[in-house]
Amino acid sequence: MIVVIDGPAGSGKSSTARAVAERLKIQYLDSGALYRVATLIYLQADRNREVFIDLLKESKISFYFKQKKFHVFLDNIDVSEDIRSMKVSDAVSEVATMPDIRSYINQLMREQVKKDIYIADGRDLGTAVFTDAAMKFFMVADLNDRAERRFRELSQKGIETSLEEVKANIAGRDQVDSSREADPLKQAEDAILINTSGLTFEEQVTQISNQVKKLITEHKH
Ligand code: C5P
Repeated sequence: MIVVIDGPAGSGKSSTARAVAERLKIQYLDSGALYRVATLIYLQADRNREVFIDLLKESKISFYFKQKKFHVFLDNIDVSEDIRSMKVSDAVSEVATMPDIRSYINQLMREQVKKDIYIADGRDLGTAVFTDAAMKFFMVADLNDRAERRFRELSQKGIETSLEEVKANIAGRDQVDSSREADPLKQAEDAILINTSGLTFEEQVTQISNQVKKLITEHKH
């Protein structure tokens, strides 16, 4: 069973989904992290698409959720921190426009979620990857709120950047993600809209947890 949360960059999807997973003891899948790992390979390939595809085919991407953290590995090396750099953030939306990369990542995800109860976050999970998800949410927030939140997160991780740089990155990614041809960011018709601008973190986690908990109980009976 899978529940999905889609929405623009920095809307609080992944921190919320992680907290819900922790609270309800279910699995969490960060689809953006997989695009970010692919981007590490793209940068290794000096942005040459052919070299990139060859390298990707030879690489092993793996992941798991443990102790509130989503861990991603490239050829068994933990790259969970490396994928958060601004260099990766600046190139990831370009990688995400490539249809063959999208189908590769979608296949990885679909295989994984067969095995357990998952909450996953991304851009196109409700509209393209898991159209029959048990429940769908679409999370939005004002650009300024999103930029401030992401800037705080990056600063806490010791990643050097400025609020302006983060804001420009988020706005740029939203633009590319919403206008691309392959599975653009958009709200699924059957998704529940959550605007996190007026909510505290605790409120948004509780709102989603309550609904997902009900669903899990029904699923088990
Ligand atoms: O979630 P996060 O901001 O880490 O995602 C990084 C990028 O990966 C997004 O800006 C988007 O370009 C891409 N992405 C996507 N589809 C998803 C998840 C992420 O295209 N399901």
